[in-house]
Amino acid sequence: MKQRIADRLAQLRETLPPVSPTEAATRAEAGAWLIDIREADEISQGTPVGARPLGRGFLEMRLESEGATADEPILLLCASGARSLLAAEQLRAIGYTDVHSVAGGFDGWKDAGLAFETPVSLDAADRARYARQVTLPEIGAAGQARLREARVLIIGAGGLGSPAALYLAAAGVGRITVVDHDTVDRSNLHRQILHRDATVGQSKVRSAHATLVALNPAIEVVPVEARVSVDNAAELVSGQDLVIDGSDNFDVRYAVNDACVAADVALVYGAVERFAAQVGVFPAGGAPCYRCLFAEAPPAGAAPTCAEAGVIGAVPGIVGTLQALEAIKLLVGMSETLSARLLSIDLARQRWHTMQIPANPACVICGVHA
Ligand SMILES: [Zn+2]
Repeated sequence: MKQRIADRLAQLRETLPPVSPTEAATRAEAGAWLIDIREADEISQGTPVGARPLGRGFLEMRLESEGATADEPILLLCASGARSLLAAEQLRAIGYTDVHSVAGGFDGWKDAGLAFETPVSLDAADRARYARQVTLPEIGAAGQARLREARVLIIGAGGLGSPAALYLAAAGVGRITVVDHDTVDRSNLHRQILHRDATVGQSKVRSAHATLVALNPAIEVVPVEARVSVDNAAELVSGQDLVIDGSDNFDVRYAVNDACVAADVALVYGAVERFAAQVGVFPAGGAPCYRCLFAEAPPAGAAPTCAEAGVIGAVPGIVGTLQALEAIKLLVGMSETLSARLLSIDLARQRWHTMQIPANPACVICGVHA
């Protein structure tokens, strides 16, 4: 049997000549796909810089879902150059025309003095808990590690903060601070899904803390029982990587926005009025900010509260979930986010629309004379 594989490999070296590691590095630099097809435990010991760790088991499917086309140059790397040669043959058989194995595999790569890195690895508990999101190339072990290191402040444990906090906790955001001054009212329960009937009358942040640590005991949840204002916004925002605004009044929104601009922290905004909703991201590092979008608060009473207007719980549920999604995308470094964009949703008619948020040069907070 051993001889049969050796014979086949010898034949393949004739028909599909492998490329040297140095040549592979040059081609990868020029845009070729460099794919590490080894097992995850091998890749965890080190992989070429820029290689995609797709493994062998699902290689054909993953290549397709990653968007590789049949005529793009593809380089396969294993440990010594044998498995990659067999895999190259398979890819050729299903129509990839420019596939080569890297001679000598990762051993040859290292021997040639080419750059490699040791990927972030997750412990067994994290691999189990986050398996379905770590599988995404956009997350992976590196993204999961970023989430674990992330510190997120959630303003309000209400209709928006509830789903946002639940999804961020479930996703493994390492430290979630929830600030709210209120207590749980029975009329909150149809939308503020952090809370339970048994926590009616309790402080919302205590109730939120209990729910979140029950969902994910591996993260830190910091409850802050306080009313957010200009007096404490800067202190709350300090040290955070990102802020989710789930508040329901303009004074708080302005205070949080101004603190985020000053501290260079991204702000994920969400708002709901009956079936109309908005989600947007005010990026770290400046304009546009919330005040660019809404320079002044509407006159008192012009914007109805949920108590006055009424709301179906699923509506803030969707918006808070979108805020959590945008937060995760920002934290793991995905490029297409709602950064400097506003998503407006009419959930009664299911019409979704995005627009750019123009920075206002005259903005008193982020503008040129701020
Ligand atoms: Zn601004």
